[in-house]
Amino acid sequence: MDISLLKVKNRWEELVDTAIERMLEEGAFSCSCGKCRADVGAIALNSLPPDYVPVGVGAAEAASTGEDELQHRLSQAEAAVRRALDLVKQAPLHSGASEPVLVNPNEDLVRTVLADVLAHQKEEQWSALQLAWALAYSLRELPPKYTTTPKGEAYARADEIQPSAVAQVLVSVHSSLQRVKAEVSGA
Ligand SMILES: [Zn+2]
Repeated sequence: MDISLLKVKNRWEELVDTAIERMLEEGAFSCSCGKCRADVGAIALNSLPPDYVPVGVGAAEAASTGEDELQHRLSQAEAAVRRALDLVKQAPLHSGASEPVLVNPNEDLVRTVLADVLAHQKEEQWSALQLAWALAYSLRELPPKYTTTPKGEAYARADEIQPSAVAQVLVSVHSSLQRVKAEVSGA
């Protein structure tokens, strides 16, 4: 199983995007450059509890999410964007030569640790969907660390990762695999 093929997403990303678009239209932003927008997105997403799901599952669940729930989540996203915008307005960094991309380096970190754990338990059989859920559950347990980085740069550099952070990821990966296994056996 190639872990890099597992696709997950944080459902807050879409809601935060929607909130940013609305506030741009309202003229709430004093600057609409790519860097300022991405920084607002990163700060807002870091203030919201990560809500990762395997890609594809999100759409089905969103359809079953009631309109009230959706509006509630959108207003939470808007409040987070408003707080983030206040911070960015105080000290805007603005776009440099390249357009920034928004990434949560936890995604690469958890993939790396998950691949490592699986390499050591060859007797276990996991489906791609099970592993995608394990990845999503792990990412929900870890505080998000969204950052904006120039396109094409390495997302999470290994030398920037603290050993204590790896230990925390390892614990979350193990508990997520246990959770997935329990769900399959109907526990
Ligand atoms: Zn700007």
